[in-house]
Amino acid sequence: MPELPDLVHVEDVLREALAGKTIAAARTGDPTVLRLMVREPFPALLAGRRLETIERRGQFMRFGLDGGLCIVVNAMLAGRYKLIGSGSADARKKDPRALGLALTFADAPELQYVDDKRMGKVYLARAEDEKTIPVYGELGLDLMSPAFTRAAFGKAIAGRRDQTRAFLMDKRALASIGNAYADEILFAAKIHPKTFCNKLAPAEIDALYAAIPRVLTDAIAEIRRRAEPIDVKVRDFLKVRGRDGKPCPVCGTVIRAVRVGDGDACFCPTCQPTGRKLFVDWSKLPPRSSGA
Ligand SMILES: [Zn+2]
Repeated sequence: MPELPDLVHVEDVLREALAGKTIAAARTGDPTVLRLMVREPFPALLAGRRLETIERRGQFMRFGLDGGLCIVVNAMLAGRYKLIGSGSADARKKDPRALGLALTFADAPELQYVDDKRMGKVYLARAEDEKTIPVYGELGLDLMSPAFTRAAFGKAIAGRRDQTRAFLMDKRALASIGNAYADEILFAAKIHPKTFCNKLAPAEIDALYAAIPRVLTDAIAEIRRRAEPIDVKVRDFLKVRGRDGKPCPVCGTVIRAVRVGDGDACFCPTCQPTGRKLFVDWSKLPPRSSGA
């Protein structure tokens, strides 16, 4: 469920509420969600630890603890983070079985990671071992960092023979885009979701590169503006995702859903036609300098 723009908001809120606080106790509703990469027993080794840093990395959330320990959460499709103030209605409820991890603090709200589908994972590791966490240690370009340049993007997409949507969602290439923002980025770049990467014209790769930070930054701004609790999914402003059967906000054509790989993509058949439409007019390109 949470994608990069959601997680940027979660990161802001958690950092504000919890950074520097000391964990009083930890518990889980389902130990199978936990991946303990340390020898010490859970939850005893978490009590009394200071939560020093909270940082999003791709689709992961990393909680840095004192003593060189860290908690790394991969929320996958259904995981969500919640902050529960003492005295709130949630605080009086029994723990859900889907409670992956709860951390309590003497002087801050309780942090819960809840995952109804139990597809996500909570890793507890020493900092020197965290690189071995699956995917996390191999994340591709950080889309919100200065390292995400046109040249780096060109290198990541060069030689790819898969569909553009699959490439966008490959976390080892780009960190990180999920189903919703893959659709939004393709719509903004006017590229059909089934287009193969090696069929993209240079101008289309330029459009795709430009669309990624634009779509993500706009979404982050909107989610921040709405300032909903962190377990609320704010998606109603999206242009094509979840809007199949409704009119395209640009041209009015009915938005369609199509099977791409193992997921469904939403797109506008008029704004995102199949086949190349941005042909390079070679006659207008400057002549190549020798050796270039
Ligand atoms: Zn359209």
